[in-house]
Amino acid sequence: MDGVAGVNVFCAAGLTIRECRMSARAELELQYFKGVGARRAAALAELGIRNARDLVFFLPRAYIDRTTSTTLRALALTLQKHERLFEEPTSPLLTERLLYSEVTLLVRIERIREHTVRGNRQMLIASITDESRARGHVIFWNRLDYYRRFLQPGALYILAGRPTLDRHGIVTFHHPELEPVDPGEEELYSIGRIIPKYRSTQALRQVGLTQARLRALVEQALARVLPQLPDPLPRTIRQSYDLPPLAEALRQLHFPQSAEELQRARRRLKFEEMFLFQLLLALRQRGIQRERGLVFNPRSAHARWLLDRLPFELTQAQKRVLREIVADLTSGHPMNRLLQGDVGSGKTIVAVLTMLVAVDNGYQALLMAPTEILAEQHYHTLCRLLEGSDLRIVQLVGGQNPRLRKEILRQIAAGEAHIVVGTHALFESSVTYNRAGLLVIDEQHRFGVLQRARLREASRLSLGTEGIAPHVLVMSATPIPRTLSMTLYGDLDVSVLDELPPGRKPVITKVVFESQLPQVYEFIRSELRAGRQAYIVYPLIEPSEKLQAKAATEHYRKLQQEVFPEFRCGLLHGQLFWYEKEEVMRAFARGEYHVLVATTVIEVGIDVPNATVMLVHNAERFGLAQLHQLRGRVGRGSAQAYCFLATRDHFRYHWHRAADEPRERLAAIVRLRTLEETCDGFRIAEVDLQLRGPGDLLGTRQSGMPEFQYTDLVTDGDIITQARRAAFELVAMDPLLQHAEHRALRHALEERYGEATQLLDIA
Ligand code: ADP
Ligand code: MG
Repeated sequence: MDGVAGVNVFCAAGLTIRECRMSARAELELQYFKGVGARRAAALAELGIRNARDLVFFLPRAYIDRTTSTTLRALALTLQKHERLFEEPTSPLLTERLLYSEVTLLVRIERIREHTVRGNRQMLIASITDESRARGHVIFWNRLDYYRRFLQPGALYILAGRPTLDRHGIVTFHHPELEPVDPGEEELYSIGRIIPKYRSTQALRQVGLTQARLRALVEQALARVLPQLPDPLPRTIRQSYDLPPLAEALRQLHFPQSAEELQRARRRLKFEEMFLFQLLLALRQRGIQRERGLVFNPRSAHARWLLDRLPFELTQAQKRVLREIVADLTSGHPMNRLLQGDVGSGKTIVAVLTMLVAVDNGYQALLMAPTEILAEQHYHTLCRLLEGSDLRIVQLVGGQNPRLRKEILRQIAAGEAHIVVGTHALFESSVTYNRAGLLVIDEQHRFGVLQRARLREASRLSLGTEGIAPHVLVMSATPIPRTLSMTLYGDLDVSVLDELPPGRKPVITKVVFESQLPQVYEFIRSELRAGRQAYIVYPLIEPSEKLQAKAATEHYRKLQQEVFPEFRCGLLHGQLFWYEKEEVMRAFARGEYHVLVATTVIEVGIDVPNATVMLVHNAERFGLAQLHQLRGRVGRGSAQAYCFLATRDHFRYHWHRAADEPRERLAAIVRLRTLEETCDGFRIAEVDLQLRGPGDLLGTRQSGMPEFQYTDLVTDGDIITQARRAAFELVAMDPLLQHAEHRALRHALEERYGEATQLLDIA
């Protein structure tokens, strides 16, 4: 080998030495490119572009689409005819509405005037014209200094913006995007072409790297790199899924001939990105499936005992899911399963029965929750369900009294504790388990694929037995949209509880405005008189916990004295000690309180079937999933339940014209409307995903999910599905990616996911 950087990489991809040398040469440093000296190379390096290959993957950030170009004259005519043509579509969920109404024009600036309007406000008006010789105006209100310098009379610009028609019938743009056209480049912008726009920086502009020069550089890079670029996607897959070869796709991304071509090229890159990730999941799943797992005997005396004590029959869905779980526990391979189900579908009991199987087989069961509140609730639920049994359940959370903690750790290590409930504290190094054979993770989508793999490792160590992996059951607190579960949970088998316990009726949900509260209170009183109970929930908006508690206490006093004097109200907020909370909740469950005034601490775990009404104040402040969880606290018995979502009066005015609202308020209205319309958690999760995007929904960093460069988890569901199918099929066929035609793929996978692909060497 001749030691040129880049050679090894390509040899690893299975190319011949000769091909490698060529590749290495193709990766020559940019400063030997025509038109690039040391200064320009440095400016490019700031953007991470060091060689020709980097340039090839420096994809345009936008395109100027002249295929659908129009003229000022044509625009004026259209606007006169259909004044409303350019209005935004009414669905607030359409994020692309600007695309519908933006137009692109090649215009010449004729002259620039300044105007002072009422309130001493300055505006800049540029007269424009184009090849149709009609006239138009461009108006700027802000950054006038900048535009005074930027706008050159006589120069040509590509304009992108939303046209309006002014009083005199002149097409006018307010703050459009303008890009100067380099002299001599007009040709390039002739109607019918699509022109790439690259990201630009101060540094690039300073060294004279204009859009035109960048395009020329990219042309050179493509010519050098593409002929030798290996394509990770095997030909058979490209054919089955109608994907262009990588080189072709890259060329089309830089210089598309048509919008369709661009679309197809984009799809190719997204597919490849998702395919690699799904391949990782498929390999991991296969790796786990091949591991040795504990073989459990599914007959469990404690499970039997609990089932006999339950006041209800399991639903068909619960029975089916338990059968799926038992099949895993007896298979000889570790279980690795996601339990999905809507709020109230009865996931807890399924998890508890599974834990009892582990315990009766002589193993410890761990239950991990993402927050202390949740862990605490799980702990108390377990204690309640298993009250009167001989099982010991312990809790591990932060901030426990050291003496108590020490005793708990002793019980865990000695195997006296059968079930351990806790937060991340479960994985601290000070904890030594005694045969921890089952790990139940209550997720709330907090942990991702890679993170979970680490947790598994920790519990595997705790097992002590070399080479045997624990069983893992992951529970999601609220339903997860399919596109997300395919990525975040793509390495797990999935069980779905798609049936609510019998007799449940959808909660009747109504958005009310503050001025309607007296009627709502009247309604609540009528329910209370009928022997029912109610929740009244306030959001936490005070800056500190102390103030929050104070605010909650005030609301509570007012409600008790002025609204419900003839009934008893209880108060629940985050500042209470756990045993105080517990006492309030128990009293409410016993019916000693008619009304429970609470902050969101009741979001999880509370289970009082006799409570049939919920009123949420300032509902616009809550997230969608959170409101769905909250609402899940009512409708747990067979009586009809109601949920009132109270919001500010002035929302009433905006209710029917949501499309014009600023995003934040808009999102609040969409959330409230969605809840009014449906109780289906899966549907709600989809809307939530659309509103918030996956990063926000999951806390991408937290979840340990990789950032995807090309794929949009919200809109690219089809591509994700296809890439997943292709990846799992491929791994079934060639589990170690050993076939010659998969070498480039294997290399790409290692390059992208590094050590995570060690799985390739396990089997
Ligand atoms: P989630 O899936 O939201 O965690 P839970 O496990 O808290 O739901 O169950 C909700 C309520 O339904 C609890 O009161 C539980 O006791 C009850 N429940 C669970 N399974 C059944 C069933 N098969 N029939 C009737 N009630 C059930
Ligand atoms: Mg639950």
